Amino acid sequence: MTNPVFSSLPTSIFQHITMLALKHDALNLGQGFPDEDGPLSLRQVAAKQLLDGPNQYPPSKGSAVLRQAVAAHAARFYGLSYDPEDEVVITSGGTEAVTAALMAMAGAGDEVVMIEPTYDSYRPMAEAAGAVVKSVKLEPPGWRLTEDALRAVVGPKTRAILINSPHNPAGRAFSREELEVLAKVVSGTDIVVICDEVYEHLVYDERPHVPLATLAGMRGRVLKIGSAGKIFSLTGWKVGWVMGPRELVSVVTKAHQFLTFTTSPALQLGVAHGLTHEMDFPIQTTRRLQKNRDILAAGLTKLGFAVQPCEGTYFLTAGISKLTNEKDFAFCERLIREAGVALIPLSAFFKSGTPDSYVRFAFCKQQALIEQSLDRLEKYFAKQ
Ligand code: PMP
Repeated sequence: MTNPVFSSLPTSIFQHITMLALKHDALNLGQGFPDEDGPLSLRQVAAKQLLDGPNQYPPSKGSAVLRQAVAAHAARFYGLSYDPEDEVVITSGGTEAVTAALMAMAGAGDEVVMIEPTYDSYRPMAEAAGAVVKSVKLEPPGWRLTEDALRAVVGPKTRAILINSPHNPAGRAFSREELEVLAKVVSGTDIVVICDEVYEHLVYDERPHVPLATLAGMRGRVLKIGSAGKIFSLTGWKVGWVMGPRELVSVVTKAHQFLTFTTSPALQLGVAHGLTHEMDFPIQTTRRLQKNRDILAAGLTKLGFAVQPCEGTYFLTAGISKLTNEKDFAFCERLIREAGVALIPLSAFFKSGTPDSYVRFAFCKQQALIEQSLDRLEKYFAKQ
């Protein structure tokens, strides 16, 4: 007997789309990783450490130099104060950070509220911990978070709310007003909010990233998650962190201790260097990606896609109902086969009650690839 949480999972949509894209030599705007590696200096620092050592276990909660750099980053960008000694824990990526936070906050029978569409690891890891997932659905057009939708699922058994802002795949950076609604709903309860903020620096149009922890009364109940992979375009590094009040972080640290115990010392040192010396990189990346987003949005609008607002992340969503009667999945498969462009059907991010006429484009790529993809789509639709 295997665990149904995992055995019942379908093949990942990313794997399916990528295999199909390879088979048909399609340009891949499906997978959400950059096609250029981040700063050389981080890699040099990590390489030197790898060669010179030591290469033994760093402390389970993370190398002191990285914990200090993570705390200093939160102070510099958001005015948030965390003690690097016991209010920061380094994890093997944002994914492990979310898992450790979920396991630390919720167990058998507890309810965890998530925002659908959801990043794919959230639900299975909460369910594997024995928790029951309740979803708040964001609705197109606009993908806005509302008080009514939140109140409909938050109840006496809710132990945690897991929110992702900026949001993959919706491309939303939740506004201060939306976050204030969330703050209002949890105030007076003992609900913890796990904030997956791995795209914190990828917010466009000069909008500020607003961490929930900066809202009045929230710091004491927020676990704030970050990822160096996203900040420095080094997604394979899998170095992340959780920050929060010490009484919550101490329990997250215990879960992390048995998930991975620790993270490569060389990569931790490289990331510490990045957070202290290379913070211009994410700013430049954001400018570059904003341009990609604009090119993509304009091109898709011209083709008849209903482009949704994209305020942050690597992703833009668009409605397809003016272009086809097909469901998103069939449409994406057809575009790979016939137009040579790969996208992700948005229904893959929902458990049920899904809008099935939206797709997700990843624009964290070279501008030329975006332009080539638009060119292929334009030629293809012109023949229809
Ligand atoms: N959270 C979200 C919302 C993501 O999109 C991703 C990466 N796609 C992660 C977490 C994972 O971060 P990491 O690679 O650091 O594990």
